[in-house]
Amino acid sequence: MNDASDIQGQEAPRSRGAVLFSGGLDSMLAALVLREQGCAVTGISFASPFFSPRQAKESAAAISLPLEIVDFSDDILSLVEHPKHGFGGALNPCIDCHGRMILRAGEIVRSRGWDFVATGEVLNQRPMSQNRRSLEMVAKDCGVADILLRPLSAQLLEETEVERKGLVDRSRLCAIKGRSRKEQMALAAHFGLEKYPSSAGGCLLTEKLYSNKLALLRNQGRLRDRKAITLLKFGRHFLLPGGAKAIVGRNLAENEAMRNIAGDADYLILRPIGVPGPTTLLEGSASAEDLATALRLCAGYSDKVPGDIRVRIFKGEELQEERSVTPLPREEAHGWLL
Ligand code: SF4
Repeated sequence: MNDASDIQGQEAPRSRGAVLFSGGLDSMLAALVLREQGCAVTGISFASPFFSPRQAKESAAAISLPLEIVDFSDDILSLVEHPKHGFGGALNPCIDCHGRMILRAGEIVRSRGWDFVATGEVLNQRPMSQNRRSLEMVAKDCGVADILLRPLSAQLLEETEVERKGLVDRSRLCAIKGRSRKEQMALAAHFGLEKYPSSAGGCLLTEKLYSNKLALLRNQGRLRDRKAITLLKFGRHFLLPGGAKAIVGRNLAENEAMRNIAGDADYLILRPIGVPGPTTLLEGSASAEDLATALRLCAGYSDKVPGDIRVRIFKGEELQEERSVTPLPREEAHGWLL
């Protein structure tokens, strides 16, 4: 397990572990605090349709931290389907999600015979999820209480097995608590970190508008429909009176991306001709009435011209039909917006 090449200029590491690494400052500091005392640390970051490891990659590169990316898609989808602890302000099952990430990191650590899982959590930084009770509860629930370290607040928390065994020197861990970032900034200066992200970057599940669109798929039992999930990032989404969904592109880049994602099976692709206008996707199972509405919607979001607009209907690349339609006034469609 010990490998002298793990930490440059040092002998064999005193222990080895994984840090939940979002790429935000706290996770960087947690890794650096452990590394400073001779522990070999690997960052673990998670990827899903709702968040990406982009920031983690950048921050890991900045501190030369080995980083592993774990596909978290199935985990987060199952938590959005059935969140044991409910949602935050949008469709974000944060308590369950955070616990599951720790659990997954714990599995990796145990399977490799490593010694600890660490996080950048700070006691009382978030009143609900990072108070003493919830930190203890997460450790217990995830079955990692013996190996879970919070290096930034460790001296304020109960001693862990890892510290008792001397695998990590408790006296060189920190005692940070609360919402003030002063101590983290001082620690960042200590490690010579001049530039660092203020946060780890976005999670779409915390965004209200995105969550509204996702909620429809959830209610329809379609959270495993990867194409539908991917399309949530593009265009305006309308739930038409007959129950089908239409997605209207907002610019050229979206139009093109939507056509590529739609493929030829699940969606009809509507495109105005003779006038600049949006690619519009309509679910393939739409009724004739919803198709007629979607064609008018597509024309309504096209550039204004006198009279009707011709709109072509494609399945993939294949032209199915062309119709002349009267543009739908946009205000008439506002009530269908998700
Ligand atoms: S913000 Fe998103 S990634 Fe972070 S814990 Fe909540 S659901 Fe998970």
